Amino acid sequence: MNVGVLALQGDFREHLIALSDCGVSAKLVKTPAEIAEVDALVIPGGESTTISKLAKAFDLFDLISKRIADGLPTYGSCAGMILVSKSIIDPASNQETFGGIDMQVRRNAFGRQTESFEVDLDFKGISGSQIRGVFIRAPWVENYGPGVEVLASVEVGGVSHPVAVSSGKVLATAFHPELTGDIRVHKYFLEELCK
Ligand code: GLN
Repeated sequence: MNVGVLALQGDFREHLIALSDCGVSAKLVKTPAEIAEVDALVIPGGESTTISKLAKAFDLFDLISKRIADGLPTYGSCAGMILVSKSIIDPASNQETFGGIDMQVRRNAFGRQTESFEVDLDFKGISGSQIRGVFIRAPWVENYGPGVEVLASVEVGGVSHPVAVSSGKVLATAFHPELTGDIRVHKYFLEELCK
């Protein structure tokens, strides 16, 4: 299997390392030809507005949207979660998403950069110790359709907000497992969604 990490902006190198540590063949992708060839795609954390603008500028936007709609296994972390959502509650002007999961996300839901935080999470389908969630100006899932499975949530003010979800072949986390050295979320993606 040939896993591509979208390398337009953001922490794509960290995803590449995590995937390599899982023992799969992974490479950075940023041209239409490269994206046409991958068997799975990872969309990194970073800045979703920048990634979507660059995807348009490099003629990748429609191709990525179509490949995801056609069933390409895809994992988005943080900005990547925003990009695989159906819509954004508070988008930057003209901000569009690739789609993939029938959900609406709220950008910067936990507050500003200085309100970034870490917390241990129960992740449905991953056994053993909890998963360390690194949240950097992260989104949360505000609402979602019937085909979406919630895998992890964070409670704020007594309200539970989904921060890891999957639907069909698409996985999204509001946090950054690629920054922790714990490769279990990447393994989950490869074993549960890419088969
Ligand atoms: N707030 C960023 C956005 O809207 C996401 C931040 C991140 O990926 N760490 O894209």
